[in-house]
Amino acid sequence: RELLADRVKSLTPSTTLAITAKAKELKAEGKDVIGLGAGEPDFNTPEHIIEAAYESMKSGETKYTPAAGTVALKQAVADKFKKDQHITYDLPEIFVGSGAKHVLYCLFQAILNDGDEVIIPTPYWVSYPEQVKLAGGKPVIVEGKESNDYKITAEQIAEAAGPNTKAVILNSPSNPTGMVYTKEELSLIGQTCMDKGLLIVSDEIYEKLLYGGTEHVSIAEISPELKEQTMIVNGVSKSHSMTGWRIGYAAGRADIIKAMTNLASHSTSNPTTTAQFGALAAYNGPQDAVEEMRQAFESRLNKVYDKVNNIEGFRCIKPQGAFYLFPNVKEAAALCGFDSVDEFAKDLLSEANVAVIPGSGFGSPDNIRLSYATDLESLEKAISRISSYVENKK
Ligand code: PLP
Repeated sequence: RELLADRVKSLTPSTTLAITAKAKELKAEGKDVIGLGAGEPDFNTPEHIIEAAYESMKSGETKYTPAAGTVALKQAVADKFKKDQHITYDLPEIFVGSGAKHVLYCLFQAILNDGDEVIIPTPYWVSYPEQVKLAGGKPVIVEGKESNDYKITAEQIAEAAGPNTKAVILNSPSNPTGMVYTKEELSLIGQTCMDKGLLIVSDEIYEKLLYGGTEHVSIAEISPELKEQTMIVNGVSKSHSMTGWRIGYAAGRADIIKAMTNLASHSTSNPTTTAQFGALAAYNGPQDAVEEMRQAFESRLNKVYDKVNNIEGFRCIKPQGAFYLFPNVKEAAALCGFDSVDEFAKDLLSEANVAVIPGSGFGSPDNIRLSYATDLESLEKAISRISSYVENKK
């Protein structure tokens, strides 16, 4: 008798896993493999956050909390939106969950009926299509063209939207491209979404990691109408180097937030209490560490960007945010005798001992993703290995 549900049978495993597993295997064999696959900051969580979490446990804060988070944390999140985005959210418009990934999961479960479509721009974060499908929805993939810095346009949304389209996902700054939408682009996109009645899911998890003077604008801050039309998703994972703590949140319409809260109340009960106290200290305490980490990423980016772009057959737009480079390497793959970038990435790992993530998992099969959330020495060594590999192989 078949015990697995159809729902999970159609889930595709993360393409990043195969290469990461292979990299681990090679390391275990004693090979000096450098991994550029990391999706998290390589810094420890700032000390005052760890202290606050520890103190909260010692003072007895070790019990269940309300399903959508403590009042204090929701207030801190509301204060953050007021300060950074100039948007006022009431507490019933805020949901705190176990990481932005879980928050997005609850959000799609809360808004999608079977067959509802969600517009997902490429290159996309790997979990969006799977989460939409798990909620019974249908991903409608729209290409963010390289010629438009891998961003989609309002016209493309208008063309893709049909009677069953319910939402559009925006991710700025983007994982994997590091591109950032301007206020003008967002205004046009926002207008189209309002005309078509599409809910905007705005994933702003990399908000604090911006370079070269780039500014982050949330589509929700453009007008009160767009605030109503948007669910913002954010969290402390990337900004405060708290990936393992699992705290993320959504802000937006109270009816959707309430549905997400009900879902969480029957699944997680609440995000881990101790982690909530950590996140509270992250927002209410000093922000120096956030800026220090941002500066470290920017300095690495400036040191390695040209080197990556100058590798033969690599073409890379300079990222404005996040901590990834996403070069188009189709030409390099062809030079080295490969029809596909997936094969090129595999060979890079076995021949050059460098693990990169093939772009196919992000819906962009001509690219690879290199993370610079790793120390500069390893980063530079990895890039020179890739460069010599291409030189020798072509
Ligand atoms: N959204 C994007 C674009 C991400 O890259 C990530 C993490 O990699 C997340 C959401 C999830 O973050 P969290 O650790 O808060 O679940």
